[in-house]
Amino acid sequence: MAKIDFYGGVDEIGGNKVLVEEKNDSLFLDFGMSFKTANQYFSEFLQPRSGNGILDFVEFGLLPDIKGIYREDYLRHSGLTCQEEPSVDGVLISHAHMDHSAYVHHLRRDIPLYLTKESYLIMKALQDTTSTSFNELVKLKESFFLKPKIVVRDGYSPYTKVKGEESEVNRDINIIEPYKQYNLGNISIKSAPVDHSLPGACAFLLETDDEAIVYTGDLRFHGRNSKMTEKFVKESSQFQPTKMLCEGTRMNTNNNISEESIEEKATHIVDGYNDHVIVNYPIRDLDRFLTFYKVAQNTDRTMVVNMKEAYLLNLFTEGGYYSNLDLAVYLPRRSWGLMGDEACVCLEGEWVTCSDLHPQHMEDGYKKWEKRFLDLENAVTYKDIRENPKEYLFSCDFFEFKELIDVKPEKGLYIWSKTEPFNDEMEIDFQKAQNWINHFNLEMITEGMHGSGHANKTEILDMIRKINPEKVYPMHTEKKEEFEILKNDGIEIDFPELSQ
Ligand SMILES: [Zn+2]
Ligand SMILES: [Zn+2]
Repeated sequence: MAKIDFYGGVDEIGGNKVLVEEKNDSLFLDFGMSFKTANQYFSEFLQPRSGNGILDFVEFGLLPDIKGIYREDYLRHSGLTCQEEPSVDGVLISHAHMDHSAYVHHLRRDIPLYLTKESYLIMKALQDTTSTSFNELVKLKESFFLKPKIVVRDGYSPYTKVKGEESEVNRDINIIEPYKQYNLGNISIKSAPVDHSLPGACAFLLETDDEAIVYTGDLRFHGRNSKMTEKFVKESSQFQPTKMLCEGTRMNTNNNISEESIEEKATHIVDGYNDHVIVNYPIRDLDRFLTFYKVAQNTDRTMVVNMKEAYLLNLFTEGGYYSNLDLAVYLPRRSWGLMGDEACVCLEGEWVTCSDLHPQHMEDGYKKWEKRFLDLENAVTYKDIRENPKEYLFSCDFFEFKELIDVKPEKGLYIWSKTEPFNDEMEIDFQKAQNWINHFNLEMITEGMHGSGHANKTEILDMIRKINPEKVYPMHTEKKEEFEILKNDGIEIDFPELSQ
């Protein structure tokens, strides 16, 4: 019998980390971050120290205290030993949301990761375009490495830190094909694509000598790709699972809002409107992107995305997922503010406008990955949006609100196409968003503008009945008791407990 230990995803939505062991073989299902626990101890200005390796995370149970899974540089720097071989045979990533994948950063590089191509692209974009401390998802940058200096001056250390590209090592990435079998020792695995609020989500079907285990990851039936989830249900029922690890994010509701209905409603609102239309949606939700891309097309506007999203869309376009997207890319002003004609700099005692400088100075303050967007024909700045508000559908997230100071909207719509706040921190941010929106005389539109990435209660119960496992472990839920009704169908319900 396979042993299953839950190191996250118990009585909370997210933080999934499940260890499955069969004789001498073992694997993790996801290795995500628990927002709930992280928020209990940490905040924006109180963060775990990268110099203390994994220990700040282990202290609060954010990372399980397990030997043989963490990166050598972190262990050794904290005075811990590192065993020769990894203690697990692989980590299966169901999708690239942080609550399922963020702590891959801490894993040793020789642990094979199994993930879909889309998940890989999203994780790559995340690593390439964010500068946060713990984002080494697809490439590991070895910390605390020194090398001899080429030129040594008297009195200085003859060593220098290994940094940048020189410190990078690839992780053991295995891109998985749908329904293809892979073997991790005695455990065979198959991925089943499912629909969720970002591309590349999958469930997993695991098989050992005497068990068939289904892990749903996160899924829904009301998205653009619901057929994938339906196929998963069909395949899983033929699989005759002994155990099913099932998400239950929305066991408290039977509502659903589809992407099509958001598109229709937003088109209706935007059509014929003559001023700014600004939208805020989760940028890695490319189905939602598509919804607003279509709204823009339906209403003769051009969709404007930020550079991070443009970077991700480029990766997906190169991967063959899109062709000929008709978009504009927003260039924000950076530290020197050189994107505006009015900006001046002092040149040998004379104040000159930036347009008098060598064009190369326009690039000052932009990161390497951003520079490719600066010369694009379809790049726009605050000026374009300010001067032609009805030409654009401008995607502007909370953390980009500063752009509104430059755009100076006097009137317009602000479409909030995101989940409504469900905890104190989100409530505070939402209130701040409301203040900005009021300040710029924008009208906030939320009603019917967000659909969840998760199946509702009826759909989850129906799914389980169709798959008909012997036993269900409700996880990724705060409503586990809603599963108990399945006992009437002869299905055993086992509430997982958090392992330490
Ligand atoms: Zn999740
Ligand atoms: Zn998710």
